[in-house]
Amino acid sequence: MAPTTKAVKKPARKKAANPLAHERVAAILDALQKAYPNVVCALTHRNAFELTIATILSAQTTDVGVNKVTPELFRMYPTPKKLAEAPLPELERIIRTTGFYRAKAKNIQGAARVLVEKFGGKVPQTIDELTQLPGVARKTANVVLGSWYGIASGIVVDTHVGRLSRRLSLTTQTDPVKVERDLEKVIPQDHWIQFSHELIHHGRQVCIARKPRCADCSLEKLCNSAEKTWTSDQESGLR
Ligand code: SF4
Repeated sequence: MAPTTKAVKKPARKKAANPLAHERVAAILDALQKAYPNVVCALTHRNAFELTIATILSAQTTDVGVNKVTPELFRMYPTPKKLAEAPLPELERIIRTTGFYRAKAKNIQGAARVLVEKFGGKVPQTIDELTQLPGVARKTANVVLGSWYGIASGIVVDTHVGRLSRRLSLTTQTDPVKVERDLEKVIPQDHWIQFSHELIHHGRQVCIARKPRCADCSLEKLCNSAEKTWTSDQESGLR
């Protein structure tokens, strides 16, 4: 007969407080604001046109990588009209290091053409119009509207914003559009633009994907993520 082992009862896990409680969300926003008081979009740009093109190029690559190619691109093709008329192989050569360069070259030229043909060479100021440009989905449109025009039309959800929002229990969704919907319910609209910038910076510098630097994190006391690598183990009452 097999020896019996007495079952050890695990201590019941303390019921988590509401992670979407107003006070908790306000504390997260406050900590982020203090950590990144003057954070802005990391893509180099001088106008809405350049920001639109740079954001299209930033798909599947880093802002640093985009910033390496855009000086030459905008020196040679500084306006939507000039970019619309550029030889495609030349565009491919300039942006080659950003990856998926053939598709991206077509998209930025297509976007420039739509700007010229439909919008008089100006970058429009609504999601519905911006998403008519090739290569521009909701995320890119939100970047342009928020960072250039200061219009809080939505929350930019990139890989960092998605991951951190889940780690901070602000959403359980993985689809960026659903994450955005969840965030928009709990983040006050006047924080939407800055919140994205702050989370993106926090995701790059501290709450990195593989091994978050929780010991250096100003949100640590507010975070109950199972992916934490360190905990102060103190009760904040806001977790
Ligand atoms: S405590 Fe760790 S997992 Fe939580 S937000 Fe900070 S770095 Fe990310």
